[in-house]
Amino acid sequence: MDGQGMNQTAELIGGAAESPAAAAARLSGGTAGPEALRPLVDQVLAGLGAGALRRGGPIVPGEPAAVAAAVRAALAQAHGPGALGQLTELLAYGAADPADPHCAAHLHCPPLAVAVAADLAVSALNPSQDSWDQAPAATALESELLAELAELVGFHPDRAAGVLTTGGTESNLMGLMLARDQRLGPDVELNGIPAGVRPRVLASEAAHFSVQRAAALLGLGERAVRAVPVDRELRMDPAALADAFAEAGWEGATPVAVVATAGTTDTGAVDPLHAVADLAARHGTWLHVDAAYGGGALFSKRLAPLLDGLDRADSVSLDWHKLGWQPAAAGVFLAREARTYASLARRAVYLNPADDEEAGYPSLLGQSLRTTRRPDAFKLAATLRVLGRDGLGALVDRCHENALRAAAIVRRTPELELHCDPVLTTVVFRYAVADPAESDRRNAELRRHLLRAGRAVVGRTELPGRGPGRVRLKLTLLNPHTTEAELASLLHAVVEAGENA
Ligand SMILES: *Cc1c(COP(=O)(O)O)cnc(C)c1O
Repeated sequence: MDGQGMNQTAELIGGAAESPAAAAARLSGGTAGPEALRPLVDQVLAGLGAGALRRGGPIVPGEPAAVAAAVRAALAQAHGPGALGQLTELLAYGAADPADPHCAAHLHCPPLAVAVAADLAVSALNPSQDSWDQAPAATALESELLAELAELVGFHPDRAAGVLTTGGTESNLMGLMLARDQRLGPDVELNGIPAGVRPRVLASEAAHFSVQRAAALLGLGERAVRAVPVDRELRMDPAALADAFAEAGWEGATPVAVVATAGTTDTGAVDPLHAVADLAARHGTWLHVDAAYGGGALFSKRLAPLLDGLDRADSVSLDWHKLGWQPAAAGVFLAREARTYASLARRAVYLNPADDEEAGYPSLLGQSLRTTRRPDAFKLAATLRVLGRDGLGALVDRCHENALRAAAIVRRTPELELHCDPVLTTVVFRYAVADPAESDRRNAELRRHLLRAGRAVVGRTELPGRGPGRVRLKLTLLNPHTTEAELASLLHAVVEAGENA
């Protein structure tokens, strides 16, 4: 649109002539905000539709260098009022779109339209959760939602404490931080790990890598994390956990935390929570349960029993941008007892002065590692009100059923080999080749082949252990609307790519 056209549009909308520069500098808030947003949102929606149509599949076809060149060209060309629409079209064309049934590699969910619309409200108003006077209603809303989620995991809502996080990585860091400070004393914040203390964090071999990162960041050291062996389904072996505690005893080391995983990233395996909780309790050790993936099962009547024992955790990680269909970020950290949260408390004179708190102004500052923070609670609260817990549970069940269907297709396809029965919504398998090294090469190459062709986005992982023959493919099925025929055509594409790789 040229400058003349923009002026005419502005006249039609606002009545007064407005230069393109002035129009581009309009704000999203206030009573005029919605009208400033409307034509821009229209541009974005048109760009999303056109980009998806041009892509026509689960991922942009071609090599990374070609995608990078297209981005450079678009950035060089797009200028002025239409740039937003042009760049949106490029972003959509160049996407890996989890709403496409053939995009099923990661815990990368297709967000619900209602959650995205709710997030638009958050972006427009831009509340920040670090002080009440930046987010009056959003502060109260986060507290209400956290009480609801505490009850969902089986904590006492009046005793628990928590916060919305960027995801499992941040939540795991927080869990281990509280564990460290409970075990080694509050002084550790000021002075670091006392000399002579050898901390241990016990997590399974299949635990998320963010556990090691958290240990490094917290000064415990990555080597403090001991990988407890898993069974074939990648669940922590409780006998091996008992051995790890015994070994820490002989070494004079201090077990700071046990991390159980409720839904491993790769297979969805759930560690035996009661057995792990029994051992943690016997050794007086903090239990953090990483339910970043499996937490979604709490909404499903059928799958919730898998997480039995979650209420025995001292702290829990949940991620609603996985099995919760929220746009990222929508992580949650919960501690069973608010008093254990003390080590995060901070007084910032410009954010939560004591006299404001005494006067009844609440502050969430001491709940988070972050300062400026989006109200990510809002989209989840809105989703829960629109769909209800049962509505979300039905989506979880559909994805679970799809995993069972895909596993059945793999089982009856001679070229494919299933690793184990799905637990949540993940199917781990491979294109079967007898020679282990050739199997690894072929499975890795077939996946890149599908990416280059823009035909499918399939995950790749490796089973724990050593040596060749451990490469596996995985489908992480998070699209509740995917049909059995679409699953069959996805697996057919894998077989075809395997023959040609
Ligand atoms: C995804 C995942 C994480 C990391 O969460 P982010 O939201 O990506 O930070 C941690 N643990 C498990 C089990 C996960 O699946």
